[in-house]
Amino acid sequence: MSDIDRLAALVAEARCAVAFTGAGVSTESGIPDFRSPGGVWGRFDPSEFTYRNFVGSHEGRRRYWALGRVTYPLIRAAAPNAAHLALAELHRLGRLDCCITQNIDDLHQRAGLPPEAVIELHGNATRARCLDCGHACTRDEVHARLELGVEVPACAACGGVVKPHTILFGEAMPRAAVQEAEQRARAADLFVVLGSSLAVYPAAYIPIHAKRAGAALVIVNLEPTPLDREADLVIRGKAGSVMAQVVGTVRARSLQGG
Ligand code: NAD
Ligand code: ZN
Repeated sequence: MSDIDRLAALVAEARCAVAFTGAGVSTESGIPDFRSPGGVWGRFDPSEFTYRNFVGSHEGRRRYWALGRVTYPLIRAAAPNAAHLALAELHRLGRLDCCITQNIDDLHQRAGLPPEAVIELHGNATRARCLDCGHACTRDEVHARLELGVEVPACAACGGVVKPHTILFGEAMPRAAVQEAEQRARAADLFVVLGSSLAVYPAAYIPIHAKRAGAALVIVNLEPTPLDREADLVIRGKAGSVMAQVVGTVRARSLQGG
């Protein structure tokens, strides 16, 4: 049996399967990841885009929005790929409990996963919020103002500081999302990591919680990860083509009623 068939069998037989995705699940949609050659951080210095710099000064926000003005259109123009679509179909087939994601690109939801089945550890780039009064707005509205030449968009309601609904370097992950992710990881009997270097903590602890609580751990990634030794199955391949094959097999089995 091939490794992809083994993964399909695990998914078909799992009581509660949970997916955990990173930037690698969206590279096939044209959104660069952090660590692969040619990724975003070859071109920008990540140490500059910290939470402290953003909340601390107008200049920090100006630089952040100058970057965001370039990166957000990439996210907006991207379409879900075979990996996102496969996860959404597995959920419809009752074969996937939820997807815990480090991504901020909204592509799981756009592929058809219901929002309550997507747990976002690092926020969502399509939304923004005022740090002073809490007023929410869309990133599209913010982006339109950047395009008009506004360098640092202020809150339309109170003039306060508008922050993207994404976690910046040095910012804590949202507590409710982390708690939910940990709970669902512990409840899983199958935990599938897709396209994550598992190098960004604390998010990378979540697969460890799942494994310690008894889940089978599968890692689908182009490169080795620090958790490969702990995994029950490692597939070195592209998330899109691997998951398209997996969902094809699972779909066929569910049509046969098996
Ligand atoms: P990462 O960049 O650290 O690792 C991505 C991994 O995916 C790499 O190991 C790479 O080999 C692998 N990969 C690349 N393309 C792949 C493919 N087609 N199939 C399988 N594997 C593939 O990403 P990470 O682990 O998510 O952590 C980095 C941080 O990057 C996260 O905090 C995330 O919020 C942020 N980020 C998100 C996006 C996005 O939302 N799409 C994009 C860039 C960065
Ligand atoms: Zn406000």
